[in-house]
Amino acid sequence: MTYEKTCKHCGTTLSSFMRTYMLGCPNCYQTFNAEIVTSLKKVQGRTFHVGKAPKVVGINRELMHEYERLLKEKEDAALDGRFKRMKELSQEILDLAEELKRRGIM
Ligand SMILES: [Zn+2]
Repeated sequence: MTYEKTCKHCGTTLSSFMRTYMLGCPNCYQTFNAEIVTSLKKVQGRTFHVGKAPKVVGINRELMHEYERLLKEKEDAALDGRFKRMKELSQEILDLAEELKRRGIM
């Protein structure tokens, strides 16, 4: 059996952290600090390899995604003849489009 790093406070083991990326308690941060830093670097390297402000890019992408989702939902509502829902969605889409324009994405 190999030695495994374990949080003394809550009993979370390194292998369970590596599997779930979930920490049991604040003390885990200290216990697994080196591993957390390493895994964050990996995640960032994969996810945010473009752009200088990954946070902003992430939010903008989320908004764009939501916009596309609403358009699709409106289409579905139109096909189903749910006109009330269509009207609601149209308003949401307009609001979101405003926000996207304000952020210079559209
Ligand atoms: Zn812990």
